[in-house]
Amino acid sequence: MTAVAERRAPTRLVDHFEYGLDAPICLTWELTYACNLACVHCLSSSGRRDPRELSTDECKALIDEFERMQIFYVNIGGGEPTVRPDFWELLDYAVEHHVGVKFSTNGFRITKERAERLAATDYVDVQVSLDGATPEVNDPIRGAGTYDAAIRAMDNLRDAGMKDFKLSVVCTRENISQLDEFKKIADDHGAQLRLTRLRPAGRGADVWQDLHPLPHQQRELYDWLVANGEKVLTGDSFFHLSAFGDALPGLNLCGAGRVVCLVDPVGDVYACPFAIHENFLAGSIRDEGFQHVWREAELFKSLREPQTGGACSSCSAYDSCRGGCMAAKFFTGMPLDGPDPECVKGNAEFVTVGDRPAPSQDHSHKGTVRNAPVPVKIGRRPPTTMCDESPVNPGDFVVG
Ligand code: SF4
Ligand code: SF4
Repeated sequence: MTAVAERRAPTRLVDHFEYGLDAPICLTWELTYACNLACVHCLSSSGRRDPRELSTDECKALIDEFERMQIFYVNIGGGEPTVRPDFWELLDYAVEHHVGVKFSTNGFRITKERAERLAATDYVDVQVSLDGATPEVNDPIRGAGTYDAAIRAMDNLRDAGMKDFKLSVVCTRENISQLDEFKKIADDHGAQLRLTRLRPAGRGADVWQDLHPLPHQQRELYDWLVANGEKVLTGDSFFHLSAFGDALPGLNLCGAGRVVCLVDPVGDVYACPFAIHENFLAGSIRDEGFQHVWREAELFKSLREPQTGGACSSCSAYDSCRGGCMAAKFFTGMPLDGPDPECVKGNAEFVTVGDRPAPSQDHSHKGTVRNAPVPVKIGRRPPTTMCDESPVNPGDFVVG
């Protein structure tokens, strides 16, 4: 795979990433906005199926295109991808066409039979979501009964002989103290722990102020990752924490539009899974085909240009932190060339915060959901100290 802008002839791997590759190495494909759950922090505000969803034939044509581009694997998510009636057919089609699949699931449909079939299929990986190491922490976020469903799915996968599947955890204020317990659950199931950052995207914007880890928890998380990081997957979630000291393993830059992108259920291509907003919409596979969007979209070309550090450029940690996450800044109303809203040096405190952007779309359930979250603990609570509050203006946030 080569860098798109060969004229720059970068020599370091990170430079290849910075200038963009001719195919993404981290492609997320959200197959559907339909979901049987209504997690409070859902980054894609999923719930109801979009009637314009790609058809089975369109999905297969997209897989063909991935194969031609030598995209060796895709992360499939949603919504809950297994609620699509053709999900298993598409999974088989991808594998037959040399496109490996890692799919995320809440586990409700990972029965013993499905687990056995998955364990017998090469190039398929499963990522089970769980946001609390106990039902008391998990279910208020993900919904009643979701802890049991996720553990049952992991039991089924382990019993079927599936190795190294993933236990995926969004780190929140409620679960940072459970990191060792998550690791034990993963180890007990022969799974690998994957930690991701809570981003203020989708419904996550509504609860971010109440759920994002407090400053002392950011430090706790960093120290835990330093001690355990080799065995834990984090993607590009926590490079902003590298400002505490040594760089953490993983991608230490924002890969949006360079090595990362999202295809949504209707075929729209965004710069990153956490940036589903018209400002980060690069094009549509229905209009142009994926390859053309990836290589030619003006948005992606601009993201691959050298970026200035803006207000962060004088920071001693800039080389490892790079100003943090574009999506986190955007959805909290902070300037994209300024510090991350969770800047560990406290510099977000001095930034003027603008209006929080209105979401471009919302597929949340309108009616009652059987496994709805039980918000017994989520709500506005007085901070223990003023330093515990986010530097981002709390008045900008409304808890849904
Ligand atoms: S915007 Fe944030 S989540 Fe998206 S690629 Fe950049 S750092 Fe990662
Ligand atoms: S000032 Fe910017 S570069 Fe420095 S730690 Fe904060 S977000 Fe990172």
